[in-house]
Amino acid sequence: MIDYTFQRRQATRGLEQLAHLVRAQSWRQDGTPSLPPTQAAVLRMLQGVQDGLRARQIAERLGVSPASLSDSLKALETKQWIRRVPDPEDRRASFVRLTSSGSRLATQLQRPDQGMGSLVESLGEADLGALLRVTQLLVNEAQEQGLATGLRTCLGCEFFRPFASGEPDAPHVCAFLGTSFGDAELRMDCAEQEPADDAQRLGSVARFRQPTPP
Ligand code: SF4
Repeated sequence: MIDYTFQRRQATRGLEQLAHLVRAQSWRQDGTPSLPPTQAAVLRMLQGVQDGLRARQIAERLGVSPASLSDSLKALETKQWIRRVPDPEDRRASFVRLTSSGSRLATQLQRPDQGMGSLVESLGEADLGALLRVTQLLVNEAQEQGLATGLRTCLGCEFFRPFASGEPDAPHVCAFLGTSFGDAELRMDCAEQEPADDAQRLGSVARFRQPTPP
């Protein structure tokens, strides 16, 4: 009989080991400046977001305190990779945007051989789908436990309809795009995502967890 408590500890150990390896690697990537993980995550997050994001939104998505994010933003500003522009709706707030050199660096950081990307590269469709499926559930759990908010996953999206298409190879539906798709196309950071309310999200999670939906 399988000891699931033991196996959960094994899975936890594996994730922690991977996080440690990737953190260590991020300090010695060829041609890319050594960046602490939070600074690299901010640059990646801002890439492609033309209007920028408020510091509060960035802190929520990263699951870090506004105070610790403030230090990271100051460091990025000093290196001239980000700039702040006034928020027209709130005189005390500002939007954080990439500068052109910050944008170039963010592009470098998005390369598939950077960080965790170099490990995921080798996965085939089935394994990639399994990883994306589990990652959606783990991110949802992180949000449930108050570790992070504002992450733009399919599972937390009001347009997500798990197992609604009736197509075995593409069982989920995105009501925004009007398309069906499988686990390997689940999004972890989708620009079109709109957060579902709690009732809808919990319903999606319950449906998504069913290995063989009715
Ligand atoms: S809008 Fe994006 S996050 Fe939402 S279901 Fe569609 S693909 Fe997923």
